[in-house]
Amino acid sequence: MLTEAQDQAAALHRQVRDFLAGHDPAAMPPLEFLRARFDAGLAWVHYPAGLGGQGLPRSLQAAVDAEFAAAGAPDNNPARIGIGLGMAAPTILAFGTQEQKERWLRPLWTGEEVWCQLFSEPGAGSDLAGLATRAVRDGSGWRVTGQKVWTSMAHAARWGLLLARTDPDVPKHAGLTYFACDMTVPGVEVRPLRQLTGEAEFNEVFLTDAGVADTDRIGGIGEGWRVAQGTLMNERVAIGGAALPREGGMIGLAAKAWREHPEARTPGLHDRLLRLWADAEVARLAGARLRQQLAAGQPGPEGSAAKIVFARLNQELSAFELELAGAAGLRYDDWTLRRPESVSFSGRGPGYRYLRSRGNSIEGGTSEILRGIIAERVLGLPAEQRTDTRVPWKDLPR
Ligand SMILES: Cc1cc2nc3c(=O)[nH]c(=O)nc-3n(C[C@H](O)[C@H](O)[C@H](O)COP(=O)(O)OP(=O)(O)OC[C@H]3O[C@@H](n4cnc5c(N)ncnc54)[C@H](O)[C@@H]3O)c2cc1C
Repeated sequence: MLTEAQDQAAALHRQVRDFLAGHDPAAMPPLEFLRARFDAGLAWVHYPAGLGGQGLPRSLQAAVDAEFAAAGAPDNNPARIGIGLGMAAPTILAFGTQEQKERWLRPLWTGEEVWCQLFSEPGAGSDLAGLATRAVRDGSGWRVTGQKVWTSMAHAARWGLLLARTDPDVPKHAGLTYFACDMTVPGVEVRPLRQLTGEAEFNEVFLTDAGVADTDRIGGIGEGWRVAQGTLMNERVAIGGAALPREGGMIGLAAKAWREHPEARTPGLHDRLLRLWADAEVARLAGARLRQQLAAGQPGPEGSAAKIVFARLNQELSAFELELAGAAGLRYDDWTLRRPESVSFSGRGPGYRYLRSRGNSIEGGTSEILRGIIAERVLGLPAEQRTDTRVPWKDLPR
C-alpha cells in the first residue's frame, strides 16, 4: 500500500510530466516558461496554492527540480536571486499581506526582480537593533534617511529588505519597522564596495529622504525586530543548509584537486582530507535533516549551527586546496574590480575560494554571535551579560 507521501510524489510526477507535455522548454522563451511553472504551482511546492505552490511537504521539491532539470528546462538562476529565495520570500510569506504576496512572490521566483538586504550599517552589524536609519511618516508613506553597508547584490536589486527606526523614544528593539524599499526611487544611491576578492559583490547604500509607501511595510509599525528575526533565521539556513549531493560543494573541489595532483600528496594532507571529507558528509546529512524538519514557515535557532559549520568547513577546505597547489596557489587569477551578477562562494579558482570564504564566518551573523544564539536558545544556558557601548539610536535627531 502506498503511503500518503508516496501518493503525493506520484501525483506531482504526473503533474510535471503533463506540464512539460504542454510547455516545451526548448520552444518557449525562458521567462514565459518560468511564469507558467509558477502559475501551475510547481515553483516551490510547499508554498500555498496561488503563490507558486500547492501546500505540499517541502521535501518533495527536490524531485520536481530534478525532473525539470532533466527535461532541459530553464532554471531561475538561484545564485543571482539567493537573497530573494532564501530570505525575502519566507519573510513575505510569514509576515506579508495577501496583496504583498501576490505582488512580490511571482517576479521574485522567476528572477524578474532581484532582492537585497538593507540591514547592516556602519554602526550596527552584530548589534543590529542599534541601527540608526530613520523612517519618518510623510502623508500616506514614509521618508527614509540613513546609510546601509555590505549590501550584497544591491547593484542588481529592484527591492531591498529594509529595517529602519520609526520610533527613537522607545527601547531599541521596539522602535524598528520593516519595509520593502524600491531600489529605483530617487534618494537611493548604491555605491560599490570592493572586497578581498577584488570584486564588489556588496555595496554601500545611501538613503536620502527616499520614499517608501506604507503599503510596502511588512508587519506592524514597531514590529520590525520580530520580522527581522524571521529573515535572519532563514538567512542562516539559506547559507548553511543548502541541499548538496554527496561530495558536492567545496569538499568536491578539494577531493578533485587531490585526485588530479598525486605529486602534491603527503600523509599529513591525506589525513586532513579524510577528516574534512567526513565532517563535510556529516554537515550535509545534518543539513538534509534540518530541511526536513522545516515546515513551510519559519526555521528556529538550530540553523545557526549549520551556518557555523558551513563557514568553518569552507575556510578549512579552501586552505587545503591552496596548500595542495603549492607555490602556484599563491597566484591570484584576476584582481579586476567587477560587480558580479550573482553571489558565488566557490566560483573561479582556489585563490578566489580562499579569499571569499573569509566572509563566510561574518555574513549572516558572525560565528561568535551564532555561538551565543546556540548557547542561549538551543542549549538554554544563562544569557551573557552584555555592555552595549554603541547606542547610536539614542543620539538621533528627533
Ligand atoms: C560577504 C558579506 C556579505 C554581506 N552581505 C550583507 C547584506 O547583504 N546585507 C546586510 O545587511 N549585511 C551584510 N553583511 C554584513 C554582516 O551581516 C555583518 O558584517 C555582520 O553582521 C557583522 O557585523 P559588523 O561587520 O558590524 O561587525 P561587528 O558587529 O562590529 O563585530 C566585530 C567583531 O566583534 C564580534 N562581536 C560583536 N558582538 C559580539 C558579541 N555580543 N559577542 C561576541 N562577539 C561579538 C563579532 O563576532 C566580530 O568578530 C555582509 C557581510 C559580508 C562579510
